[in-house]
Formats: sequence, structure tokens, C-alpha cells
Amino acid sequence: MILPIDLYGNSVLRKESEEITADYPDLKQLINNMFETMYNADGIGLAAPQVGLSIRLLVIDLAPLKEDNPELAQFKKVMINPIMLEVSEEELIGSEGCLSIPGISEDVPRSQWIKIQYYDENFKLHVEEFEDFKARVIQHEYDHLEGILFTDRIKPLRRQMIKSKLNNIVKGKVDCKYKVVR
Ligand SMILES: [Zn+2]
Repeated sequence: MILPIDLYGNSVLRKESEEITADYPDLKQLINNMFETMYNADGIGLAAPQVGLSIRLLVIDLAPLKEDNPELAQFKKVMINPIMLEVSEEELIGSEGCLSIPGISEDVPRSQWIKIQYYDENFKLHVEEFEDFKARVIQHEYDHLEGILFTDRIKPLRRQMIKSKLNNIVKGKVDCKYKVVR
């Protein structure tokens, strides 16, 4: 089932999300729905707050990028209750967009390397390290669980320049080919 995506300005995107337990109701179905919602919107990552749920759950599938980046073809993750254990001081700048902020992409600095702990969809614990683009996508989605959006991390001048676009999203003046909550 495709879920409507919360847009910039919706308060659920600004809340700190809560951990869940393995008996969270219909968790498998929710995860399936999040993947379906993400694919339908041509996204590569989606965090639960973006579908209105303030819980620590995110999904990622980088397969759509495999033509230019074969190493991303198999990168499909479900992360439950993730905890960022370490991040590198070294940062890389890269362009990011967000399904909750349609029509805007900006350069965002992210740690080049991260070490993260999380539970998968079977509540098996993983501790893994990621680099470069994978680390970027995970940091973006992890931020959603903390109520942080990529526009919080861009240069103040850039933020000023996209202010009217952001205000238009808040007012619902935005074209989106997927279902959204305005
Ligand atoms: Zn996002």
C-alpha cells in the first residue's frame, strides 16, 4: 500500500522519533508499505516520520543507481532503532534531495565514514561501517529520526536563497506526482 508522504512544514518531521519493539503492530507490513511508497516516488531512502510515524525505522534501496554505480546494486537495508556509534571528522560535500522537500536539491556536507548499530526487519542486531554515498544516505535518513532535515545542514546563504521555495511547500503550493500530506 502506498502511504502519503509528509511534506516540509509538517510537525512530525521535526519530532525526535521513538524506539520500537519487535511486537510493533504489523511491522512487516509497514516495512513493505514504506518500500512501496519509496519506489512509487522514485526515492532511494525513506524514514518513518515521512509517512507520519514518529518511530525509529528507515528503509533504503540504492538499486535504482546501479547503472552508474554497480556497487550500489545490492544495497537494500531496513534499519530499526539505529544508533550512530562513530562518524568521521572528514566530510564530503554531495547533492541531496528529499521526498518531503520536493523540487529542491542542495549540497550537503556529510561524514565520509560512519559506524552504526541497528536491528534489521527480523530484529537481528548489526554493527556495520559505511563510506561515501552509502554513508551519506544513511546519515540523511537517520537525521529524519532526529527531526533534522537536509536543509538544516546547508550554508545559511543557500538556505536564504531557497526560503521562498520552502515557504511554498509549507503553503501546499507544490507539484508532486506522489501522494502527500500537506
Ligand atoms: Zn529525506
